[in-house]
Amino acid sequence: MNMRIVSTVDEIRNARLILDGTVGFVPTMGFLHAGHLALIRRARDECRHVIVSIFVNPTQFNPNEDLAKYPRDLKRDFRLIEPFTDLVWTPTPEIMYPQGYQTWVEVETLTSPLEGAARAGHFRGVTTVVAKLFNIIQPTKAYFGQKDAQQAAVVRRMVRDLNFPIDIVVCPIVREADGLALSSRNVYLNAEQRKAATVLFRSLSAAKELYEAGERDAEKLRAKMKTVLASEPLAKSQYVSCADYDTLDELTAIKGKALLSMAVVIGETRLIDNFVLAG
Ligand code: AMP
Repeated sequence: MNMRIVSTVDEIRNARLILDGTVGFVPTMGFLHAGHLALIRRARDECRHVIVSIFVNPTQFNPNEDLAKYPRDLKRDFRLIEPFTDLVWTPTPEIMYPQGYQTWVEVETLTSPLEGAARAGHFRGVTTVVAKLFNIIQPTKAYFGQKDAQQAAVVRRMVRDLNFPIDIVVCPIVREADGLALSSRNVYLNAEQRKAATVLFRSLSAAKELYEAGERDAEKLRAKMKTVLASEPLAKSQYVSCADYDTLDELTAIKGKALLSMAVVIGETRLIDNFVLAG
């Protein structure tokens, strides 16, 4: 396949316009791994054309976060996606947010807890950039990872609320053999921290085991996750949640579909992970 690489809005618009049939779109921040490739492969399977964007979106990072040192390797990214991708768009911050930019998209209640509470302004940046990407690319389907569970829920809400004619496809989390969810940020971990990072998967697994043995008291599941996290001295838990899958409200008793999720800091690196309890 001959992958085309473009950067301006006019270029991507014109390149997209001449594609006929279904278009699958995968938005990413680059430094791609097998988790991203699973989304791209799925798009390839389901759509006639595949468009990938690579853009480290500054508006979804708050000033204390890792924007400047976020890992980047465009050449490697291009090589990885080339077999599956028709068109890759790599805009700059100046293209996405030119001088005088002042329009924002906000999803309200769903962005309050969890990542929204821990990362002020994060989802406002996410929904704004995704709305811009959707408007410019006009895909048939867009692919997101369950890894960012709240992001997927927020994007689905935005698409319903703003009537984007786009199917949102959420793909399962791709993990390393020891359970660690793949993330571009895993490269920040040294060998010792990398070992410690399996604690997220271990604590989610322990809570799921309780659930499968019949436990429906959400607080007991949260307590189990906290106990396992506390057993790892390098891990500092930021939040631990057992919430309703759709509303993300913290649960007392688990009745239907639920989301176990957590954010944990190891060294300087913030990791998130989650399991879905099918209900
Ligand atoms: P990012 O580049 O981190 O913004 O991620 C781009 C997309 O890839 C998002 O929809 C993520 O949820 C998804 N993604 C990231 N890591 C994984 C993973 N380990 N498994 C599945 N999807 C992932």
